[in-house]
Amino acid sequence: MKKLVRKIFQSTMLLLFLLFGIMKINQKQDIQVFEEKKTVALTYDDGPSRLTTASLLNLLEKYDASATFFINGNHANENKDLVKEIYKKGNEIGNHTLDHVWLTKMSQEEQHRQIYGNENLLKFLSGYEGEMLFRPPYGDVNKEMLEIFDIPFIMWSVDSRDWEVHDASSIQSNVLSHIDDGDIIIMHDGYASTIEATENGLKKLKQEGYEIVSVSELFQIKNKEIPKHVKVSHCR
Ligand SMILES: [Zn+2]
Repeated sequence: MKKLVRKIFQSTMLLLFLLFGIMKINQKQDIQVFEEKKTVALTYDDGPSRLTTASLLNLLEKYDASATFFINGNHANENKDLVKEIYKKGNEIGNHTLDHVWLTKMSQEEQHRQIYGNENLLKFLSGYEGEMLFRPPYGDVNKEMLEIFDIPFIMWSVDSRDWEVHDASSIQSNVLSHIDDGDIIIMHDGYASTIEATENGLKKLKQEGYEIVSVSELFQIKNKEIPKHVKVSHCR
């Protein structure tokens, strides 16, 4: 009889231990999920490019990520199929002027043509119909332009400097050493080194719990409106 009581006692204790352990694990997982919810926006300027766009689209798909492509009209006209493909694969089409110009050096009339001419072209080529984000080439924008144009001016908070360094590991470290929740990363569509950096960077960011999305998606996830008449460089 004594033996039986001891056995029941031991089994009960074991059961309690197990239950307590499971509760602890669940608690830990909940905390981890909460802590790891970080989101960044990825952007590619100056495309589309025969050399790189298709590879970038494949990588974004592979890592369940999306991006905003700020496209120039002259490149769009040369690669109409790629403009369509970027949008079809769930990415965002953004405006980067018709000819990649220094806007502050131009008349208001020419600024208007460079911006809205390209917006109309990109909408026609992609089929996208909503509000289109704009990124000024070289980040070149002044107070007057911000007042006049009723469009979102999207800058960046993390600069990969891929157009300058042309080396995958430098590009990666430029991005990964500065990254934080709500950042907007700038890269360029047109360099082989950017493809390699994108693959390694996406892998690393995913491991660290980041979600990688387009600029509009970043603001939607954070439940915030994209402001106008200011330079937008992140979403905290
Ligand atoms: Zn550019």
